[in-house]
Amino acid sequence: MLRRGGLLGIPTETVYGLGANGLNEEAVHHIFEAKGRPQDNPLILHIPQASWLERYCADIPAAAWVLAERFWPGPMTMILRRKDIVPDAVTAGLDTVGMRCPAHALCRAIIAAADVPVAAPSGNTSGRPSPTNVADMLEDMDGKIDAIVDGGPCAVGVESTIIDLTAQPPRLLRPGGITLEELREALGEVEVDPAVTRLMGKDEHPRAPGMKYRHYAPVAPVTVVRGEGAKSAAYIASHAGAESGVICFDEYAGQFGGHIVETIGPADDKGEQARRVFDALRRFDSTDVKEIWAQCPDEGGIGLAVNNRLNKAAGFHIIEV
Ligand code: AMP
Ligand code: MG
Repeated sequence: MLRRGGLLGIPTETVYGLGANGLNEEAVHHIFEAKGRPQDNPLILHIPQASWLERYCADIPAAAWVLAERFWPGPMTMILRRKDIVPDAVTAGLDTVGMRCPAHALCRAIIAAADVPVAAPSGNTSGRPSPTNVADMLEDMDGKIDAIVDGGPCAVGVESTIIDLTAQPPRLLRPGGITLEELREALGEVEVDPAVTRLMGKDEHPRAPGMKYRHYAPVAPVTVVRGEGAKSAAYIASHAGAESGVICFDEYAGQFGGHIVETIGPADDKGEQARRVFDALRRFDSTDVKEIWAQCPDEGGIGLAVNNRLNKAAGFHIIEV
């Protein structure tokens, strides 16, 4: 399917992706159509091994090889200068390209068998939470694409960490499964793009085009309540109205009687929260809740990625308690 220009749903360790042959401009255009994705939001090229970087990227800095050695295959995307062979449709006309070598065994087998770089964003309809299992992807893409390969639930649950190596110092554009702490340990100084932690103003131009779009959002508006678990739970319990839904840590589920509750794992297990956060957000769309309150972990480790996804879903509507 990939070789003949089709669209294939592909399991990865992060989220399900919507893949096409990354060298086939027309096939890549079909990804944008199926998702309803804005044309200026580029895709990531997925490759089977780091040596393929040379085929698609120019001026590759030493830092790229350091990161590839440490974190590939795995949930990390590097932004590098592109070669002309990469179609404009993949990069949205930018002179850079996002590159990733995924770890999921089935995904790797698919890319190796296709023997082409696979261009893919997440497999959701643009704006919705990313799919972390085959049923979620089918919900958005049934009838719009050729097939989805069922690779089970995703192990990481949030999209790849994106680091821009064309910036000096390297810059974190999106937090994910490879943490900021790990990147700093490997590279030394790493800056965090302001769009990771706050809303971009109307006249600001984010480095990653995707950062300016409303993202991961259920239909009902979300409010994130940040702070120690018992405190944030108490705040939500006293402010939630009759038609509110609640996203909370397992320990506090009992405090929200009468509300539709989605748990995302124990308060001290951020990895589990990352695996479950998108599905929790998505489930409210089949209910008639009018608003959603969400607990949120601190920003250490993969907590930064969980924060980022919940905060974006909330349009950075955050209450500190
Ligand atoms: P998705 O995984 O669905 O978010 O789609 C791919 C992500 O990679 C988007 O957020 C893009 O904005 C980002 N991306 C891809 N290529 C580039 C690039 N050259 N520069 C900055 N961000 C990129
Ligand atoms: Mg996406």
